[in-house]
Amino acid sequence: MAVRSIVLYGHPALRKKSQAIKPVQPIDRETKKLVADLIATLDNAEGLGLAANQLGVAKRVFIVNLSHIDPAETFRVFINPEIFSRDGECELEEGCLSFPDMYEYITRPERIKLRARDAGGNEFTLEADGMLARVILHENDHLEGKLFIDHLSSITRQLMRGKLKKLRAEGVASAASVASAASALKSSGAPQTPHNARLER
Ligand SMILES: [Zn+2]
Repeated sequence: MAVRSIVLYGHPALRKKSQAIKPVQPIDRETKKLVADLIATLDNAEGLGLAANQLGVAKRVFIVNLSHIDPAETFRVFINPEIFSRDGECELEEGCLSFPDMYEYITRPERIKLRARDAGGNEFTLEADGMLARVILHENDHLEGKLFIDHLSSITRQLMRGKLKKLRAEGVASAASVASAASALKSSGAPQTPHNARLER
């Protein structure tokens, strides 16, 4: 596993719709490596969730780790997720690893039901609410090329125009270096995550 660069707002990968992984069981080696890299990168960034296209890979995979706010939680892997029920509404503050230091209140469904495949390629269904539902909805949006700022009112976006413009310029500038860093894929500095073993159910 390797800690990889997270692409920033302005990078074209964030606006690309991701492709489904061929539903093979057990999961193929390439997907296993992608999941391991997502885990190492999210662990390093100390974030709550990370989607594959934030690493520049247009595949329908994301991971969630709420252990920072709930010790009972660990890494959850979602391959080919499909949210089939959305219920209620709630407003929570959100950030995104592709938008450093930007936090905004976003309204989304309060409860969801979804099906997906886990790290072993086994299909599961899940009912989620609260922060878990929130992070899943945020990450699932990434797979569609949608970003959390798309949920903001036009007035709020207008107010944030200067900040977004600056971020976008940084993201575009980093795109070339991210691409070369991602292809190099050196594992130097990748932390050994103690949660990894628990992925194998
Ligand atoms: Zn995000």
